[in-house]
Amino acid sequence: MTIRVLLLGGTFEARQLAQHLAGRGDMVVTLSLAGRTAHPLTQPVPVRIGGFGGVSGLIRYLQNERIGALVDATHPYAAQISRNAAAAAKSAEVPLLGLRRPAWEEQAGDRWRRVTDVTQAVAAIGSESRRVFVALGRQEIGPFAAAPQHRYLIRSVDPIDPPLSLPRVDYLLDRGPFCEADERALLQSHRIDAIVAKNSGGTATYGKIAAARGLGIDVILLHRPDLPEVETVATVEAAIDWLAHRAALESMRGE
Ligand code: NAP
Repeated sequence: MTIRVLLLGGTFEARQLAQHLAGRGDMVVTLSLAGRTAHPLTQPVPVRIGGFGGVSGLIRYLQNERIGALVDATHPYAAQISRNAAAAAKSAEVPLLGLRRPAWEEQAGDRWRRVTDVTQAVAAIGSESRRVFVALGRQEIGPFAAAPQHRYLIRSVDPIDPPLSLPRVDYLLDRGPFCEADERALLQSHRIDAIVAKNSGGTATYGKIAAARGLGIDVILLHRPDLPEVETVATVEAAIDWLAHRAALESMRGE
């Protein structure tokens, strides 16, 4: 007896979890990606790409594919798919687990400013010209066009196309994880004095936060969206345990 698992991903942790589950005989895992990047990394399990068509589409998918367990390992700012997963799992009666990274906590030496959205982040940079590192998704950077007084360094996985209509922007194509030493070197070489980022949690993108602390750089952090209340774990190991337990239950039911 195997259990069919749908893993909603797009994160470092989802990829790690898929890696651990790939060789198991008691689970058949499909990883689902939103399709936000043009060249997604190769994954250790079969992948499906693109939206399901809202809650009803996800319910159909869960039923058609006879999914026995759903893991929501999406990005903490991808609130819509998490809401859809909670609603669809409830309606289709599929057990759901959220794999969620705890938010980073402010530490001594951090110069954080919390804002609700990107427009507020742009305002928080101020009216004086500054050198700003933007570590946001390429779909989110439109509001920076309203503040042409700054010089920007924008890092993204895929090119920003069309480029922003701003006089001073450096574009950097790169994909995490990013370590603190490399982030420090990047911030110094571009003489950055403010960062705009999400409070993503986890280790893969923490390097810039730690580097900013050491360099005394302001960090403007976007507020985390509220997520539905579902059973949740914080680590890949705990998600493996949960799935193994589900697989064992399925196996007992099949005997
Ligand atoms: P979202 O607003 O939660 O999702 C929007 C729609 O995209 C969902 O309703 C769903 O479409 C589809 N979708 C999202 N994740 C999916 C998945 N794993 N598999 C299949 N379909 C999926 O999420 P978002 O627009 O992708 O991103 C919102 C925020 O999260 C941004 O700040 C972004 O930078 C950040 N983020 C996202 C990802 C990612 O992989 N999605 C990765 C890193 C960061 P349907 O309703 O049609 O099913």
